[in-house]
Amino acid sequence: MWIISRILVNKILAHAQRSLPRECVGVLAGHGREALSWHPLTNIAPGEQTFLADSHEQIRLFRELREQGREVVAIYHSHPTGPAQPSALDRELAVYPDALMLVVGMQTDGRLEMNGFLAHDGRLEPQAVTIRD
Ligand SMILES: [Zn+2]
Repeated sequence: MWIISRILVNKILAHAQRSLPRECVGVLAGHGREALSWHPLTNIAPGEQTFLADSHEQIRLFRELREQGREVVAIYHSHPTGPAQPSALDRELAVYPDALMLVVGMQTDGRLEMNGFLAHDGRLEPQAVTIRD
């Protein structure tokens, strides 16, 4: 089971909303399967239907986390006009086998839709994610 606090979930949602009409991307760091901190990244993808984290930012962040003894727990992104399900491209880009892929769907009116997946044997398997108050 993956654990994310409601505070971090709210930060992800705010990031997704202010990134519209583009997708947002960012990282949750912590230990094992528990997310403890939120790290938004800049989406430099040219279109609105995909995301690509700024690689300099990402490398700097991953180095900082390593120095602090923290792990990348989850990598999140949003689907401004789609469901909280991985796209075909997301499946190809799921290159971090130990990190949860969090997908935020923004189709629904004001309702949180967020699902987590883990890459395993070339597939993305749905994960149980607990949002803790
Ligand atoms: Zn996606």
